[in-house]
Amino acid sequence: MWELPKTIEKVLAMRIPIIGVIPLWDDKRDSLWMLPGYMDGIICAGGLPVMLPLSSDEAVIEQICQTVDGLLFTGGHDVSPGLYNEETSAVCGTVCKERDSMETMLFSTFVSSMNKPVLGICRGIQLINSLLGGTLYQDLPSQFSGRILIDHRQAPPYDAPSHSVIINRGSPLHSLIKSDRIEVNSSHHQAICELSPELECMAIAEDGLIEAVYMLDRRFVWAVQWHPELILYDENSHMLFDAFVSACL
Ligand code: MN
Repeated sequence: MWELPKTIEKVLAMRIPIIGVIPLWDDKRDSLWMLPGYMDGIICAGGLPVMLPLSSDEAVIEQICQTVDGLLFTGGHDVSPGLYNEETSAVCGTVCKERDSMETMLFSTFVSSMNKPVLGICRGIQLINSLLGGTLYQDLPSQFSGRILIDHRQAPPYDAPSHSVIINRGSPLHSLIKSDRIEVNSSHHQAICELSPELECMAIAEDGLIEAVYMLDRRFVWAVQWHPELILYDENSHMLFDAFVSACL
């Protein structure tokens, strides 16, 4: 009798979470693009990353939500201030209306209705806070002055840590990383101003800026302001992707 080769049997028996990755948008080329680190971080954690189309079509959004086990809200453009009911100030950066619209729809179905897992990175933390009733600094340099001066838009290389974050004891991030302080990279123009009442802070920078949050009463909705996908040589980055992908099983 014909039998499946052992390796294929193994693959079929394994449950591999499919992670939908929000595409990045290149304004100059009018094109989707992707950073390999988002894909590699998920693959290393045992998931299968799939870059999504940029679409706000209701049927497409529904299909995505039914098909994927987790969603990665990637970095990118500034969030439209309309999402948190503010006028766009002159210091706000370029926005991407298509992403704002798609991610708003995805979040509503995938998280609010279906309670499926999400990891937010950079723009991701800002977007999630905005969708849950929080607000953002539209431009950190002109609107935020912290306890100490930190440049949250570090000069290259972007894979080098540039400031530390203090992790709240008792937070799930602290249980995961088992450290009070880690070094992170920083490449963001905006950040959380007023924290959503549905989010809990997990880490702050030394100037007081919120750098990691999670959503209460959800399976797994975590978000960080730094870029773990650019520092995959760091064990902390892998732990973050591992926690996310495991939650999608
Ligand atoms: Mn930062």
